[in-house]
Amino acid sequence: MRGVADRTLIVALLVVVILGGIGLSTYSLLAGGEDRYAVHTEGMHFACGKCKHAFVKDDLTVRQLDVNPAVLRVDCPACRAKGSAIPSVKCMKCGAYFVLASYADPAAKRAGRARDVCPKCGTDRDEWFREHFRRKR
Ligand SMILES: [Zn+2]
Ligand SMILES: [Zn+2]
Repeated sequence: MRGVADRTLIVALLVVVILGGIGLSTYSLLAGGEDRYAVHTEGMHFACGKCKHAFVKDDLTVRQLDVNPAVLRVDCPACRAKGSAIPSVKCMKCGAYFVLASYADPAAKRAGRARDVCPKCGTDRDEWFREHFRRKR
């Protein structure tokens, strides 16, 4: 059972890091409460799966933010494809933005056929979290 608990914590950490990029004000969204619909975002990074265009979106609606980032899809401003862009995340090591296999191809990720590796420095996101998680304890 211990492995399951660890996994849950790692997923929770991932979510915290991803949401951290949106800005502190989003905290009120997670916490619920009166400010729930008065959310201001500072931009979330996306990458288009069709034309590879990378962009930052500042005007996400509460409805768009209120979902798991893994299933969030927005329209691409470059090629105008509908729902083609998925969130990209910041590499914990070098700061480059890239699309996680967890978002682009969850089935492959689960089956172990794909890894969340930064294309710039080669850091495996899962391993990075495992290592930092271990060091903390
Ligand atoms: Zn595009
Ligand atoms: Zn990197």
